[in-house]
Amino acid sequence: MSLPILPGSTIGVLGGGQLGRMFALAARRMGYRVHSYSPELDTPTGQVANMEVTAPYEDLDRIRSFASGVHVISFEFENVPSPTVAAAAEVVPVRPGGHVLHTTQQRLREKTFLRGAGFPVTPFVPIHGEEDFAAAGAIGFPAILKLAAFGYDGKGQTRVERPEDLPGAWQRLGAQEAILEALVDFSCEVSVVAARGVSGEFAHHGVVENHHRNHILDLSIAPARIPPALAAEAVELARAVLECLDVIGVLCVEFFVTRSGSLLINELAPRPHNSGHFSFDASLTSQFEQQLRAVCGLPLGSTEQLRPAAMVNLLGDLWADGEPRWAEVYRFPQVKLHLYGKTEARPGRKMGHLTALAATVDEAVAQVLAARDALRP
Ligand code: AMP
Repeated sequence: MSLPILPGSTIGVLGGGQLGRMFALAARRMGYRVHSYSPELDTPTGQVANMEVTAPYEDLDRIRSFASGVHVISFEFENVPSPTVAAAAEVVPVRPGGHVLHTTQQRLREKTFLRGAGFPVTPFVPIHGEEDFAAAGAIGFPAILKLAAFGYDGKGQTRVERPEDLPGAWQRLGAQEAILEALVDFSCEVSVVAARGVSGEFAHHGVVENHHRNHILDLSIAPARIPPALAAEAVELARAVLECLDVIGVLCVEFFVTRSGSLLINELAPRPHNSGHFSFDASLTSQFEQQLRAVCGLPLGSTEQLRPAAMVNLLGDLWADGEPRWAEVYRFPQVKLHLYGKTEARPGRKMGHLTALAATVDEAVAQVLAARDALRP
């Protein structure tokens, strides 16, 4: 396929969640067709795609036939198995490439890569089996034990208070390959959502300040309220990560800002990220349009942020006492409602988000929190 991939072409998305949905909305607005592939039916992505394919990731024949119907494949879910990506890549370009997925879909590989490349990361030790418990003392306690594979939103992780608690904690996580991390005493968490094009050009959405609740992102503030020099450092680290991994597409770098004011990389996500959702309403080019531009070999768009913004997630918990009071949110003229089309509201499940735009970030935070409060039944 010769570049660039232009309107009228078809983009394949692996994964069916809200990130694919917002990508598909951006792509369709620009005249592209979108085909989604995931094991589920009536997914957030599939609902707005031109075609929804429902099949297991392990069905490599279906994957190859899916790939033959699109001009490029990207993904919205990084836990797609490597053989799936390899099968698709036999037929069309997959962006970012399988090597990016392979590195970032497993915490141990990701952290080992980052540390090896000289990036600042949280101190950690690999736990392959009981024989590794002895080395764990080096980390200090309390510590956090995380499964190496398939973790997100705090799933598959547990706090370990004392060395003697480690064996039990590891058993409770299923005695699988894991990573034991030092508990970072951070002053805040920030992230950089960035994109890299086919010829290496780079664009970023600035530094976003993130507040979690129960390990799930709750509130993002853009731009982050951190010193400019630290923000510049975070962007440079993100740039170096995207270059080092040879990313074509969007990747988010999540950081801890330690009490002493230095940055540690916590995690990479090789796709648009929850902390970049503000860009859909607040930036000249959203992270989703940027993903499209990058994977299609188009020039990247300006990421200029038009107004300070704050975003809160709407989790399934909001539905605990009945349907949220949607009419209330429209009383906030600076607040934008996004819903992902999920029919079942489970606690902790991301159902939608709100973004507020205002003259200052503090005002945006006040607006977005008030709007979410008003939604409570
Ligand atoms: P993760 O799934 O690794 O991104 O973890 C989700 C959230 O848990 C992070 O955003 C932090 O708020 C918290 N967390 C994870 N790892 C650590 C750590 N090593 N020290 C302190 N907090 C952590």
